[in-house]
Amino acid sequence: MIAYGKQWITPQDIKAVDRILRSGWVTQGPAILAFEKKLAKYCGAKYVVAVNNGTSALHLAYLASGIEPGDEVITTPNSFVATSNMLLAIGAKPVFADIRLDTYNIDETKIEKLITQKTRAIVPIDFAGQPSAMAEIKKIASKHKLLIIDDGAHALGAKYNGKKVGGLADLTTFSFHPVKPITTGEGGAVATNNKKYYDKLLLLRSQGVQKDKAGKNVMTVLGYNYRMTDFQAALGSSQLQRLNFFLKKRHQVAAWYKRELKDLKDIILPQEIKGNYSGWHIYVVRVTNPRRRNKLMKYLKQQGIGVNFHFPPIYKQPYYRQHGFSKTSLKNAELYEATALTLPLHPQLTKKEVNYIVGRIKRFYNKYEI
Ligand SMILES: *Cc1c(COP(=O)(O)O)cnc(C)c1O
Repeated sequence: MIAYGKQWITPQDIKAVDRILRSGWVTQGPAILAFEKKLAKYCGAKYVVAVNNGTSALHLAYLASGIEPGDEVITTPNSFVATSNMLLAIGAKPVFADIRLDTYNIDETKIEKLITQKTRAIVPIDFAGQPSAMAEIKKIASKHKLLIIDDGAHALGAKYNGKKVGGLADLTTFSFHPVKPITTGEGGAVATNNKKYYDKLLLLRSQGVQKDKAGKNVMTVLGYNYRMTDFQAALGSSQLQRLNFFLKKRHQVAAWYKRELKDLKDIILPQEIKGNYSGWHIYVVRVTNPRRRNKLMKYLKQQGIGVNFHFPPIYKQPYYRQHGFSKTSLKNAELYEATALTLPLHPQLTKKEVNYIVGRIKRFYNKYEI
C-alpha cells in the first residue's frame, strides 16, 4: 500500500537520539531548550514551548491565552477533532464558520457575523499546509479585540506573504506526529511572540508548579504534565535540519500531480493561492461528481493506493451531535465532505508512484488504459 503520508527517519536522526539516550538525561533537559530555540528561529517566533503532542499544544495555547468556560471561539469544521476538542476540554464553545472552497480553510468573510459578547478568539487552521487568510483575520480580530490561535499542525515551514507560520498569530501550535512536516514520534509545540504567554505555557506544561521567593516549589495554577522527552527533542532538532528539503520534495510531488491531472475534468485540484507557500502536508482533490467519490476511493485502495479523507466536519461527529451541534450545517463544509479525498503525498513519494496513482485515477474515469 502506498501510504498517504509517512515519516522519513535517517541514520543521522537515529544517531542524534542515540546520543541523548546514552547521555544519562532522558526526560525534559537541555535538548528540549535547544530544540525550542531552533524551532523559534526557524518559524520567526520569539518563543517556543515543546510539549508531548499537538493536542496538548492546543490545550495549553487555549489556557495560556485565557480562554475560559463559557467563552466562544470561532473556528473551522475542516480540521482534526483535536482543534475543537481542546476547547470543549476547558468548557469553551467552538462556533463553526464555513470554509472556503479554494483553500478549504476557514472563510474569513463568514467570521464577523458569528461574533457575540462571549467571543474570545478565532482559531484558524492552515489546512493541508496552506496558510489561512491571516491579514483579513487579523483585521477582524483587532477590530473586535479577539485573540488568534493558529493551529499550524499541517504548516510548519509554510509561508504567508513571505512570513512563516508560527510568527503570525498570538499563539501557533504544531504537531510532530509521524505524518506531520517533521516528527518526534509524538510531539508538539506552541510558538508565540508574547513573553506573558510563554511564561504561562512553561508553567502549565509542568503541573503549574514554580519556585516561590524562598525557592520552594509551589503550585499556583492548575497545570499538567505535557513535557516532551530529551531524546524526542533530539530527533526534532535533527528532523528540523531537513525540513526545507522535505518541503521541496513535497512541492515536487504536488507539481507532478498537477502536471498529470490538470486536464482531467473529473477532478478539482488543490491550489496554492497567491502569497502562500504551502507546506503541502496532504494533497486533497475533489471529484466533480460526488456520486463517484466513494467508488473512486474504493478502487484506488484496491489498487494499493492509501487514499484517505481529511476531514469530516467536526460538528458531524457523534459526540458533537450529542453535545449541542445537532443542527449545525454548513454548505461548503458539506459539499467538501461529499467530494474530497486525500491522495498520497510525502517527501519519499517517487515519480513512479505518482505516475501509478495518476494512471489508476485516469483508468477509473476511463480516460486511458495502461
Ligand atoms: C495532527 C493534528 C493535531 C493534533 O496533533 P497530535 O500531535 O496528533 O496530538 C491537531 N490539529 C490538526 C489540524 C492536526 O492535523
